[in-house]
Amino acid sequence: MCPNSVLKVTKLKNSTNMVLLNFFGSILPDRVQIGPINLRIRRFVSRPLQCFSCYGYCHGKSSCKEASRCSNCSALDSHSEEHCNATVYCIHCRDAHQVRSRQCPRYRLEQDILQLANTQFISLGSSRRELLYRQKDILCCICRSEDDDKCYFSLCSDGWSC
Ligand SMILES: [Zn+2]
Ligand SMILES: [Zn+2]
Ligand SMILES: [Zn+2]
Repeated sequence: MCPNSVLKVTKLKNSTNMVLLNFFGSILPDRVQIGPINLRIRRFVSRPLQCFSCYGYCHGKSSCKEASRCSNCSALDSHSEEHCNATVYCIHCRDAHQVRSRQCPRYRLEQDILQLANTQFISLGSSRRELLYRQKDILCCICRSEDDDKCYFSLCSDGWSC
């Protein structure tokens, strides 16, 4: 592939041997030659954005408007994870794992949304609607929390609410 189809090169913060390349078009080459360097290309999929205060998705801690939670037991405004003596409980799926767990169906859904947006070249909003529509029946069971009966998908501005 001709290197001038590379649109932008960004150095990644946490890596010494990886760079982020933006290409023109929708076909990804396996390798790209830039001067003397031959680079192996892999598709970049970012991680779901999860707030480190309320542990909701689609926003970061700095723009959070919700009450903070314990990441271990999901209790509101009470204590931090290090001081938690309660049983582990996930607010998103009501299962016994930490609210940040990558095993959580909600985390996996967010990851699928990113993946679909990346592979289909559609916006995150369209990808979210598409996947939520496909998984409607499953999601309806996990989107309401027991303590405030709030729909947790409504945290996402462009999401689907039930
Ligand atoms: Zn938040
Ligand atoms: Zn706790
Ligand atoms: Zn969960």
